[in-house]
Amino acid sequence: MSLYSGIACRRKFCWSYRLLSTYVTKMRYLLELKEDDDACQRAQQTGAFYLFHNLAPLLQKSEHKYQVPRHSLAELKSLLGKFGQDAQRVEDSVLIGCSEQHEAWFALDLVLNSSSSLNASLQKSEMETELQGSFTDLRKALFQLKAKDASLLSTAQALLRWHDAHQFCSRSGHPTKKNMAGSKRVCPSNNIIYYPQMAPVVITLLSDGTRCLLARQSSFPKGMYSALAGFCDMGESVEETVRREVAEEVGLEVETLHYTASQHWPFPNSSLMIGCHATVKPGQTEIRVNSRELEAAAWFSHEEVAAALRRNNRTAQQQSRGLPFWLPPKLAIAHHLIKEWVENTVCLPA
Ligand SMILES: [Zn+2]
Repeated sequence: MSLYSGIACRRKFCWSYRLLSTYVTKMRYLLELKEDDDACQRAQQTGAFYLFHNLAPLLQKSEHKYQVPRHSLAELKSLLGKFGQDAQRVEDSVLIGCSEQHEAWFALDLVLNSSSSLNASLQKSEMETELQGSFTDLRKALFQLKAKDASLLSTAQALLRWHDAHQFCSRSGHPTKKNMAGSKRVCPSNNIIYYPQMAPVVITLLSDGTRCLLARQSSFPKGMYSALAGFCDMGESVEETVRREVAEEVGLEVETLHYTASQHWPFPNSSLMIGCHATVKPGQTEIRVNSRELEAAAWFSHEEVAAALRRNNRTAQQQSRGLPFWLPPKLAIAHHLIKEWVENTVCLPA
C-alpha cells in the first residue's frame, strides 16, 4: 500500500500541490465522525461492531488464543431483535477507531446504559450461545490478545465505562446526551459539554546505577514485582509526581529522571501511564517501605532482573512454583521499562 494517498491540485500552475498521508487522512476522517452525527451514522452502515456485556468483551477462544468477533450493522440489529432489545440501541455505541480503508469500528455494551425495555432481554448465557463466544473479563484476556486487539478493546471498555458513569450533569442533575460517536456528552439544560477523561499516573523504574528497585502491592498477583506507580496530584508536573511517589513509597530521593514512553490503561477508571526512568541520590539507597501503599520493595541486581525477564513467558502457574519473583507481562509499560533497563538502553541526563 502506498504511503501517500495523493490529493493533487489539477489546475495548471497550481503551487499548492498537497499530499496527505494515509495516517493524516484517517485521523481527519475520525475527526469528522466525532464532530458530525450524520457522517457517523452513515459510517455505521458499513462499520463493524464489537460487543460487550457489562464491560466484558465478546471473545472466542481457540487453542490458547483469543479471537475478537465483529458484527455488521445488519447482524447487530438482528441480534438486538433476538435479545429482546430495541434497534435504537445502536445509538448507544461508541466510535473506537477505523481501518486505513475507513471502515469505522464501534463498540456496544448489551447491558450498560440500558432502558427498562431490557428487562425482557435474554440472559448472558443465552446471548453467548447465540454469539458463539463468551463475554470475558478484560483483565484476564488482555495479555493473551494481539497488541492491536488489546489496545482497541481497552479503548472501547474505557469509553463505555465513562459513558455509563456520566449519564447525568454534575451541575444540574439532568440526563446528559451522548453525541453519535460518543466523543462527548452534553447537558441539554445548561449546555455543559463533558469529554471523556483519563487520570495521569506516573510509573517509575528507579535505579542506583547497578540495581533497580521493584515493589509489590498486596493487590498484585502472587510473586509479581513491578516499578513504582502513583497518580499525579492536582497541580503537579510529571517530575514532581515521580519525586513525591518515590519519597512516599520507599523513602528515597530522586537525583535524575527521564521520560521514556506512555500507555493507556483501562483499569480501574482509565489512566494514562507515563513511564519514567529515575536514579536515586548517590549514597541514599536504604529503602523505607510505606506499608500503607506497598507490601514489599527491594533492590534487584541486573542478573536477577535479566533472569526474570527470560523466564517471564512461562505461565503464571509455573511462575508461582518456587520461583523467587516474576515481572509484569509484555504488553504492560512496566515490562517495557524493565526491559530497557536490562538492555541498558536507558539514557539518563548526566
Ligand atoms: Zn446540566
